[in-house]
Amino acid sequence: MSVFIRFKKRAGELSQPRAIFTVLFAVALVALLIFGVSARREKEVVSESFHLGTYINLRAYGRDKKFLETELNGAKSEMSRLEGLFSANIADSDISRAGASSGEWVEISAETASLAARSLEIANMTGGTFDPTIGAIVKLWGIGTSSARVPSREETAQALAAAGWEKVSLCEEDGKYFIKLAHGQMLDMGAIAKGRVADIVRAKLADDGVTCALLNLGGNVVVIGSAPNGGPWKIGIQHPDEPRGEYIGFFAVTDSSVVTSGAYERYFEADGVRYCHIFDPSTGLPAVSDISSVTIADADSTFADALCTALYVMGCAKSLEFMRARPDIAAVVVSDKKVYITPAAKKTFTLTDKNFTLEEIPQ
Ligand code: FAD
Ligand code: MG
Repeated sequence: MSVFIRFKKRAGELSQPRAIFTVLFAVALVALLIFGVSARREKEVVSESFHLGTYINLRAYGRDKKFLETELNGAKSEMSRLEGLFSANIADSDISRAGASSGEWVEISAETASLAARSLEIANMTGGTFDPTIGAIVKLWGIGTSSARVPSREETAQALAAAGWEKVSLCEEDGKYFIKLAHGQMLDMGAIAKGRVADIVRAKLADDGVTCALLNLGGNVVVIGSAPNGGPWKIGIQHPDEPRGEYIGFFAVTDSSVVTSGAYERYFEADGVRYCHIFDPSTGLPAVSDISSVTIADADSTFADALCTALYVMGCAKSLEFMRARPDIAAVVVSDKKVYITPAAKKTFTLTDKNFTLEEIPQ
């Protein structure tokens, strides 16, 4: 009993300072938490540039601004270096040199060999609707350049004759890489290289310790970690018929990439006909597709980039059939006022424009 009284007395004696201490401790804890969270993600560093024939916007978040600036500058240099290897518009790139010496073995970098090998795999997987050997056709039409024109049938037939992904040979000898194209063949990595560049840059930044970033390579979006607010990044899907920035819905993703192909951005009009920059490798003509846009969300941006282009060429019915066998790939196909999604996309895609109806692609 006495012990209890003594204790009570002591407790009474100490209650005021203890209360003050408790309040101070709580305030310090909250301040620490707020500081901790904001310090972790408080700074945003943005880098804008023009590479790969498109506008690039890189955003990184974190505590150390200097570190992030150095990282994004490094990313820009890396994009320039890779463009120098993969571009069909740079005369001494690996891609251009392979075309200039078609019919012969040409030494290329490990990066180009890896990209070429992946391209051939995806060309095979998509039945050649994605085909990196249509370089001569892309050049002939020049869509997206100031010299865009409708070529003659003979010109198209000639350019098409050299195409065909099955005719490409690759080999490695003593750590060196070589490619041989069929005579007259030219490569064009425009439908896959932005994805590969995004993958390489993302891996480098993540390896160096960047934990929160959004890399937008002309619509090829790659995210590292979760968004600065701690939740998933919300990546909007452009409305195909409305001005840029109007979305029909969004993907909510972390550590992933979201890539869209469509005819609404890059095209050329002649005599009232609109020709898009995506070609049907079976005809050598700009693809005529009933798809307005197709978006893939996948950790592998290289694959997502090439697959989008292939699905666009396939058209709605064939692309739905293709995706039916691949429910684990998150795909959104927009055709007319319908938005078709795979079971994987159902987990991360939200349709916001009620003028469209959502349909799940059955397995
Ligand atoms: P996607 O559907 O991903 O790709 C379409 C592009 O891929 C076409 O433009 C064509 O090049 C090619 N293609 C078309 N159909 C097919 C098919 N069926 N299978 C395979 N490939 C196909 N643009 C410029 O105007 N000037 C430049 O200097 C320039 N340099 C570039 C350098 C690099 C390394 C890369 C990757 C691209 C460059 N581009 C350039 C092109 C440009 O940035 C985009 O690739 C182009 O706008 C198409 O990209 P997309 O994502 O809209 O379409
Ligand atoms: Mg593509």
